[in-house]
Amino acid sequence: MKILVINAGSSSLKYQLIDMENENVMAKGNCERIGMEGSCIKHKTTDGKKFELTTPMSDHTDAFMQVKNALTDSEHGVVNSLDEVSAIGHRIVQGGALFSKSVLIDDKVIQGIEELIPLAPLHNKAHIQAIRACISVFGKNVPQVAVFDTAFHSTMPPKAYMFPIPYEYYEKYKIRRYGFHGTSHRYVTARCAELLGKDIKDMKIISCHLGNGSSITAVDGGKVIDTSMGLTPLDGFMMGTRTGTLDPSVVTFIAEKEGLTPSQMSDLLNKKSGMLGVSGISSDDRDVSAAAQQGNERAKLTHEMLEYEISKFIGGYMAALGGCDAIIFTAGIGENQASHRAGVCNYFKYLGVEIDEKINNETILGKEGKISTPNSKIDVFVIPTNEELVIARDTKNIVEAL
Ligand code: ADP
Repeated sequence: MKILVINAGSSSLKYQLIDMENENVMAKGNCERIGMEGSCIKHKTTDGKKFELTTPMSDHTDAFMQVKNALTDSEHGVVNSLDEVSAIGHRIVQGGALFSKSVLIDDKVIQGIEELIPLAPLHNKAHIQAIRACISVFGKNVPQVAVFDTAFHSTMPPKAYMFPIPYEYYEKYKIRRYGFHGTSHRYVTARCAELLGKDIKDMKIISCHLGNGSSITAVDGGKVIDTSMGLTPLDGFMMGTRTGTLDPSVVTFIAEKEGLTPSQMSDLLNKKSGMLGVSGISSDDRDVSAAAQQGNERAKLTHEMLEYEISKFIGGYMAALGGCDAIIFTAGIGENQASHRAGVCNYFKYLGVEIDEKINNETILGKEGKISTPNSKIDVFVIPTNEELVIARDTKNIVEAL
């Protein structure tokens, strides 16, 4: 069974074709600048063939036509015809309180995803466009499955997901913590239990997904009890360009002083803050690291803040969980920036967390493994995330049960 995994944004469309016989990625690619000038598709097969094509794509249907051409291309393709694609799995950002697990997409599900647009305006709208475009390019008979970023977090208790605002706003607008990156946290926590040869039901795990967007999740017995992102992916701790949690008065203070509208303020908090805002250099940690190494004080401060904020979340979740068996680092920064992993773990020396410096420094660029010493009281892992594989597995399971 071959499954096409789709991650659609408002102007981009990432795809992977996965052969479920061996769970190998056959080809992957990205359509960029959909609906804009200079739209282009970048396509790569696992056996090393690749091409890039700049061609007009006015909408997601045009983009899927390009994906179809790329997958079936006589030179760069990996299938003879689209009939070989058995099912399509979509990453859906916001499942709200409506979806607590992956589902087969039908008209009712589309309506549900549409109803949740106010809670994720850019994302869910784009997902609907992608689902409809798939129907027109692949036909109605190819089953499509929705896998929600929020679903893994649906086990949070009210004390974790409610905000201390007037209750009427929860009732009126469903304002609460939903959490994101659920598919990633789900994959790495399950993998951690597998690596330790333990039943996840017996484990307390803290999963740190540190990328451009970052979140930390507390998982007790395989169930999320709390997570750092909230109503939107702005909550939590410092990210590439996002603030994470901050004193809410900062928002009203700046807005009043600078005369900013809510949407301008949202732009400042989402796109101009975080590592970019503090360092004044870049949102990309590689650039901030390079500057820190050259002695740039604001870059050093950015890193100190980042490691400190991450540690405070981990410490908080240790209390929430009543202990911790394993800490996981994943995503771009978590998988590659050994110095941050060491810096964070240093805060937990008092609890007996001990990192093997050599193994930590070597566990980068997609390597998986335990970076704590055998004596460490808590196991620390680096586990490269694989959200696409989870989406493909869920899609396969749902389609096979039809
Ligand atoms: P996204 O949230 O966009 O998926 P990623 O998970 O790709 O983001 O993470 C991006 C972050 O990871 C950037 O700050 C980048 O500096 C860092 N990163 C990615 N690859 C490396 C690497 N090889 N070495 C160091 N940092 C890396």
